Amino acid sequence: MRGSLLGFVPTMGALHEGHLSLVRRARSECDAVVASIFVNPLQFAPGEDFAKYPRTFEADCRSLQMEGVDVLFAPDVAEMYPNGSVTTVTVSEIGDRLDGSSRPGHFTGVATVVAKLFHAVAPTRAYFGQKDAAQLAVLQQMVRDLNFDVELVGCVIVRDWDGLALSSRNKYLSGIERRHARVLHRTLLQLQGMIAEGERQSTALVRGGMETLKAEAGIRVDYFAIVDANTLLPVTSAETGTLVAVAAYVGSTRLIDNFLVA
Ligand code: AMP
Repeated sequence: MRGSLLGFVPTMGALHEGHLSLVRRARSECDAVVASIFVNPLQFAPGEDFAKYPRTFEADCRSLQMEGVDVLFAPDVAEMYPNGSVTTVTVSEIGDRLDGSSRPGHFTGVATVVAKLFHAVAPTRAYFGQKDAAQLAVLQQMVRDLNFDVELVGCVIVRDWDGLALSSRNKYLSGIERRHARVLHRTLLQLQGMIAEGERQSTALVRGGMETLKAEAGIRVDYFAIVDANTLLPVTSAETGTLVAVAAYVGSTRLIDNFLVA
């Protein structure tokens, strides 16, 4: 299909409306859509949830078919990483910030698998959720540095009725943890309110947000950060386009959420 647009939606499966929103956006903007499902062992540290990560392959296939995906690429681990593969992609500096700081090696795993998937699929555009804002920044840097001929498209965060950002990991939450988890979105709404009222200083904003997070039982904050959305470096003042991002453990489940300052 010379000259036609090929859209690509990489996922780890356990698909929800967040994933499907990427597929719909790709569908609306491209001539053909490829989705992938691959739970990538390289981006999980020992002791993280690789083994118990939810796998719902049959249901995922049905959802993708209903959304009109043209091709599903669902390789197994041996196909992606044949015996003897030793080469990885490390996005220095930016890959060690935010989630990269809390989860050393995580973004090397992500960049490596996405680079390999880009080679396999050769998409014109690839669709990623803004929910994983740090991941998107790292991949933008990789695409620039390694001259990938693909346009990355960031897509809005899809939320549940109570504001919690949809995530395959929400399945891990008990009823009570689920209620505690709402504090992430509540805190981000509070920050949006503070910014709308004219507070721009990161120190004041972080202090306000941390107070709300710490007041919630059952939450352990990993980071609460106000950073440049491209470099992930802290900024002193929250301006248009600045990323306000939070990561917290609810029980043993690590959740992330964020917004871009309007
Ligand atoms: P994952 O399967 O968790 O690796 O996610 C695959 C893609 O879906 C990534 O680009 C995520 O950012 C995106 N995604 C996950 N959750 C959401 C959400 N709630 N809203 C929008 N995109 C999402």
